[in-house]
Amino acid sequence: MREAKATTSELFAALEAEGVSARQNVSGARYNTFSIGGALQCLVEPESTSLLQKTMALFELVEVSPIVLGFGSNSIFSDAGVRTPVIRLGQGFRHTEYTKGTLCRVGAATSLMTLSRKASEMGLSGLEFAGGIPGSVGGAIRMNAGAHGSEICEVLKSVTFVTRKGELVTARRDDLSFSYRQASIPTDAIIVEAELEFTASDRESTQAARQKHLQYRKDTQPLTLPSAGSTFRNPTGEDGVILPAGKVLEELGLKGERRGGAMVSQLHANWIVNPEREATASDVRELIEFCQQVVREQKGLELRPEVVIFEDQA
Ligand SMILES: Cc1cc2nc3c(=O)[nH]c(=O)nc-3n(C[C@H](O)[C@H](O)[C@H](O)COP(=O)(O)OP(=O)(O)OC[C@H]3O[C@@H](n4cnc5c(N)ncnc54)[C@H](O)[C@@H]3O)c2cc1C
Repeated sequence: MREAKATTSELFAALEAEGVSARQNVSGARYNTFSIGGALQCLVEPESTSLLQKTMALFELVEVSPIVLGFGSNSIFSDAGVRTPVIRLGQGFRHTEYTKGTLCRVGAATSLMTLSRKASEMGLSGLEFAGGIPGSVGGAIRMNAGAHGSEICEVLKSVTFVTRKGELVTARRDDLSFSYRQASIPTDAIIVEAELEFTASDRESTQAARQKHLQYRKDTQPLTLPSAGSTFRNPTGEDGVILPAGKVLEELGLKGERRGGAMVSQLHANWIVNPEREATASDVRELIEFCQQVVREQKGLELRPEVVIFEDQA
């Protein structure tokens, strides 16, 4: 974060004057699926694109770089919480409109799981893989979420985002690049909407494919425990082959390893879980670092975390 040019109370007053909803001292743990993290000093929830543009223009003026939060299914907050304002898109960004049969315009705060279910029920193919991904559409595009050999970028036609300066930009899929859990959208931009293009199929096959993927998850992932899904990105081996991080960690006997309340899942070694809901962000960080160290020493591989830890920049 750049050095802020306004105090928190000045920011609240300015946001209020613009008609933007902002709350003070909110529990960060309530806003991520891991249930971890200290207080958010300023949670801003704009309800429309124009209010978001005003918010971003205001932050730019006072030189504040906000944190962008979706559904918090890939992120946690540090134990000390954050003073940096957090922007979470409000209900006004939860909408879905289908046009021309297979085209869908969707708000960034729409649930990816719900979108996947409804598209499958309509016989629209493309998001069957996403049935068990508890993120928002915006977070999924930012992370290029994927599973079972598919990624969200494959159904993307365009993305609309608000820049740091408050400008509204629409980029076509072909003008962006996507790779494993990465998108070339500017890091400080906030995705507000996307246009998706499904493939017309039949309901039986789209629903069956979605169900098959969901069942596989239930059998292989600790879905009943708080977590952020996969902890690490799959590393690339010496010969350029992508290796499943879970398999590497399991082979090294890391299942069940604990730091405080955080544990490497017994079911899937690439999932750190918070079984008793007592883990701190420091526990998770320590466990991440321990796993990285063991894998580095024993296998010569560098594991990069997929989970994002939000904290104030010094
Ligand atoms: C049970 C479980 C299963 C999972 N399975 C999978 C899986 O199979 N595949 C997979 O890829 N992931 C999986 N995940 C991880 C996670 O669900 C995805 O990464 C998801 O896309 C994150 O979305 P989110 O809205 O929760 O993002 P958040 O966690 O809120 O944020 C993640 C990142 O996206 C940014 N971001 C969020 N919203 C926006 C926005 N509107 N504009 C710009 N940037 C934004 C944030 O700043 C942050 O950098 C799983 C997680 C859980 C808990």
